[in-house]
Amino acid sequence: MLKILKSIKSIFVHIRSSLKFIFLLIIATIVIIGIISLVYRPMYSVTLNGEFIGYTSNKSKLQKRINEYLENTEGNVAFIDVKNLPEYSLCLLKKENQTNDDEIFEKIKNSGTTYYEYYAIVEKSKEKYYVATKEDAENVINKLKEKKSTNVSDLGYSQIHSTELKEFKDTESIITALYEKPTVTIASSAYSTYTGQRIVSNATPSAQVLGIGLIKPVSGIITSRFGARSSGNHKGLDIATSSGTTIAAAAGGTVTFSGWDSYGLGNCVKISHGNGVTTIYGHCSKLYVTSGQKVSQGEAIAAVGSTGNSTGPHLHLQIEVNGVPQNPQLYLYK
Ligand SMILES: [Zn+2]
Repeated sequence: MLKILKSIKSIFVHIRSSLKFIFLLIIATIVIIGIISLVYRPMYSVTLNGEFIGYTSNKSKLQKRINEYLENTEGNVAFIDVKNLPEYSLCLLKKENQTNDDEIFEKIKNSGTTYYEYYAIVEKSKEKYYVATKEDAENVINKLKEKKSTNVSDLGYSQIHSTELKEFKDTESIITALYEKPTVTIASSAYSTYTGQRIVSNATPSAQVLGIGLIKPVSGIITSRFGARSSGNHKGLDIATSSGTTIAAAAGGTVTFSGWDSYGLGNCVKISHGNGVTTIYGHCSKLYVTSGQKVSQGEAIAAVGSTGNSTGPHLHLQIEVNGVPQNPQLYLYK
């Protein structure tokens, strides 16, 4: 029994000495850590593409700053591309080693490529001007369409993604620069004076698109052409043929006048064909139609005569576009 007590006692003594040892070990460790932490501290060594670029003590703060930079899409920045992100490794360094977060950030910034997004105004698939937004680009094209700029079919815009940011131009000056005035299709400038029924021709305009087909009202000999002649400007074409020859309507339309013309055309028929086109038939011996009547192309409207200011039987054929006499030989009797 006493033997057992003795052995228990010896166990306790053994445990006590062991605890003492562990306690001393803990103290020693704390002291060592304390000494180390006076000289050293944990830091992150930062490498970019395998190259050491610096130390940071606050990895998450630095990484947050980098992320914010990469996600920055202010202005026309589409995105920023960096090939590799920095790598961090924890190490214990002497306190004299300085952290350099700003330098690390700058190095990462310099390794990145900024891509910009903006729009080019294109003419004949060539970039002409640059604007910041799609709205600006659409605005330019729509305004030019509204103004009926003749080059509208050659114009467009395209989205640009580039590392190079171009200089932007304001939409108004682009519109002014690209605008091409439409050419006037009615050759009214060829006539200098317009006094009532008398129109003086100064130049022979080129043929206009009448939008209607014309046929010869009579066949005969051209005795007087359109334009200048000794007795004043001739507003039509004279076709001589025997008196009583049927005059056919050059095109379908509505008779706007059938009666005596006091300006020298004698018995006269005027037909409106739409599109601003009117044909006038003068010096007739007989009139077969009345004002307001609808006629079709080729329909008999009158007979050739020599009434009014005329020296012999002929048809005076006059073709007008918006009230302006045209040279009939641009369309008939060429
Ligand atoms: Zn005439």
